[in-house]
Amino acid sequence: MNHDVIVLGAGLAGLAAARDLAAGGADVLVLEARDRVGGRVEQTELPDGRLVQLGGEVVGQAHTAYRTLVAELGLTLIPSYVAEPGTIARATPEGASAGDPPHWFGPRDDACHQRVTAAFTALARTVDPDDPWSHLDAAALDRLSVGAWLRSEHATPAVVRLWEIGQLALASGSYERTSLLSALRKHAAVPGGQHTEPNDHYDYEDWEGLRVAEGSATVALRMADDLKERIRLQAPVEAIDVRPGGCAVRLTGGETFSAGAVVSALPVGPLRSVAVSGVSDDRLASLNRQRQAVAAKFAAAYDKPFWRESGLNGLSESEGVLGSTWPQNEGILSALIPPERYGVLLGMPEARREHELLSDIALLYGAEAHDPISSYVRMWGTDPWTQGYVTQWTPGDVMAVGPLHGTHEPPFYVCGSDQWVAGYMEGAVRTGRAAAKEALRRG
Ligand SMILES: Cc1cc2nc3c(=O)[nH]c(=O)nc-3n(C[C@H](O)[C@H](O)[C@H](O)COP(=O)(O)OP(=O)(O)OC[C@H]3O[C@@H](n4cnc5c(N)ncnc54)[C@H](O)[C@@H]3O)c2cc1C
Repeated sequence: MNHDVIVLGAGLAGLAAARDLAAGGADVLVLEARDRVGGRVEQTELPDGRLVQLGGEVVGQAHTAYRTLVAELGLTLIPSYVAEPGTIARATPEGASAGDPPHWFGPRDDACHQRVTAAFTALARTVDPDDPWSHLDAAALDRLSVGAWLRSEHATPAVVRLWEIGQLALASGSYERTSLLSALRKHAAVPGGQHTEPNDHYDYEDWEGLRVAEGSATVALRMADDLKERIRLQAPVEAIDVRPGGCAVRLTGGETFSAGAVVSALPVGPLRSVAVSGVSDDRLASLNRQRQAVAAKFAAAYDKPFWRESGLNGLSESEGVLGSTWPQNEGILSALIPPERYGVLLGMPEARREHELLSDIALLYGAEAHDPISSYVRMWGTDPWTQGYVTQWTPGDVMAVGPLHGTHEPPFYVCGSDQWVAGYMEGAVRTGRAAAKEALRRG
């Protein structure tokens, strides 16, 4: 059957693109490999009605595309865990502590942290997030890891450790293997301090201050409800042939569809397994050069937020297998396992994983952590239809992917969180809607 546009993947990006294409009058078909929509947003319901988010969850004040979409869908944004009273907890092999400064800081470290943070934010102001390649020192900044840059700024080991534990809490991959240019670009895209003076290199309010009251995955489900029979589930794409006169998309199993244009909303990992013809070598090489940080998510649901009794807000940074925890909903803790520790989790018997992860949480919040009502381990990094978590830029990647990042080669359009500076649901929605706009503009 012939369609105007075929969208590959029913994650937030593919759904947002298809929704706008359909609204613009296009005959659109969405092909999705899994038996559900949402991709990296997924939720399940506890018997008591509480929703548990197993994937993407929080957004920030600065995530304008996502916030606009949520309003259009009639959903509600409410403050996330960032507004919780209480202090952060940190656990390292030598002990645990609550609040700032962290327990490994000495007398000089806080001032040093403030100094390098100011240097980082000042440097970020020299980077254009839409065109980091135009920076006069782009190649040099890209070659340098954030860790190496911190040391070149004479950051103390304690400060480097604080930046690293924070980065692994976000599960984005070690700062020792993160391009400085990519980190500056991410900061420049959401510079922070939209509400206050910038005081950190990652502004929690701007990146994570909000969540959808009806559940993050409900954003995808609501869009899918509107698209109905335009979505075909259990339809894994294995080949795309792109021609100006007409494109062909083949599923595993041989079924073939044709369309005037193709919008790929696939994550960069699974896309590498799709045979693509009719797209320039340069464009494909750029797409295939991108990589993802491989992470897992753990969620533990308790009958009450017991950590509050100790004055803690549920937010933590850890040097165990877990990188972080935060409360996602009343009594429910989310946790991320960063790429550097993913192998440790993967290497242990599946039946033991929950126990080990709960032990990490117990180090932070006490023995009650061992008795959740239920818990969920979601190994996103080795899920064949995701193969990652968020975009990762190791030193040299920004230059290697180059200015073709996020660009279209009509009638082949690309979107997805990987096509924005740093992943995230904002990136998915922003690029999905932009791809649809461009495809509609070109008719
Ligand atoms: C554990 C975790 C926590 C996160 N937390 C946050 C957060 O708090 N805030 C935030 O903003 N972001 C977060 N993110 C990131 C965010 O969820 C993603 O960036 C975003 O949802 C990605 O949307 P997407 O549409 O680009 O890709 P995906 O959601 O990955 O969608 C791609 C779709 O393509 C399908 N697909 C893959 N291969 C094929 C194929 N060959 N044929 C057909 N279909 C295929 C997949 O099944 C999937 O449905 C998190 C992600 C994870 C995994």
